[in-house]
Amino acid sequence: MNPLGVHALVWVGDWSEKSARYAIESTREVGFDLIELALLDPAATDVAMTRRLLEDNGLGATASLGLDFETDVSSEDPAILARGRDRLAASLEVAHGVGATHLCGVLYSAMAKYSQPASELSRQNSVQAMAWLAEQCAAAGVTLALEVVNRYETNIANTAAEMLAFIDQTGADIGVHLDSYHMNIEENGLVEPVEQCGSRLGYVHIGESHRGYLGTGNVDFDSLFGAIRASGYTGPVTFESFSSAVVHPSLSNALAVWRNLWQDGRDLAAHAHAFIAQRLQP
Ligand code: MN
Repeated sequence: MNPLGVHALVWVGDWSEKSARYAIESTREVGFDLIELALLDPAATDVAMTRRLLEDNGLGATASLGLDFETDVSSEDPAILARGRDRLAASLEVAHGVGATHLCGVLYSAMAKYSQPASELSRQNSVQAMAWLAEQCAAAGVTLALEVVNRYETNIANTAAEMLAFIDQTGADIGVHLDSYHMNIEENGLVEPVEQCGSRLGYVHIGESHRGYLGTGNVDFDSLFGAIRASGYTGPVTFESFSSAVVHPSLSNALAVWRNLWQDGRDLAAHAHAFIAQRLQP
């Protein structure tokens, strides 16, 4: 079965040693194989401390982030493009340093609502940045996957088909990162996007339509997990959920986390682990 993971925001909104220990130990205790670290501010992650805690707990890691408008690699402003590459390079350095296997998320634009479609120049700048990042990731031995998110969080690619076409333009070996929360908003169904990706599926987020407890919203998980099983995908499947009970200084606002969908991250995570494991079993 695929390695199962949980996003750090299920546990904590910061990454002090106390928070990191709580998140990593809780992830292991619930039975997950890996924790997905939120690297929005790579400088805030103590690499040595994180690596040691992961090793002490025998836990794997992946890393994700979304850029902001100040580091947007689809910008038309050369100064912003340069800051974007610096942010991505710093994030990759932290990901590699802690031993993360994957770098994923919204790495190709700001993770924010745009007020206009992407211009051709924006697309080309983003394509070039991702071709560059793919080289950096390959050199570091970190798998790169770009997350398909809904129209309110990027204007570059909102469906699997659009992301596949975007990645084709880079000419690089980059995976597609699918997320059931976003698929539920933008795709025709949950089977077709997995089939379209085929062997190019590189990472999977499992989230409910309201980002709370799995099975209490609108996502057709039976179709999705059936498609994942049929695809032969062997990579990470990570549970992602957000509630106002756990707040990250920038990520929670970027994702419009205003509602309290749960209080007890451990109960939530244990439920998600059982829910996902049951449905991924052949
Ligand atoms: Mn996601």
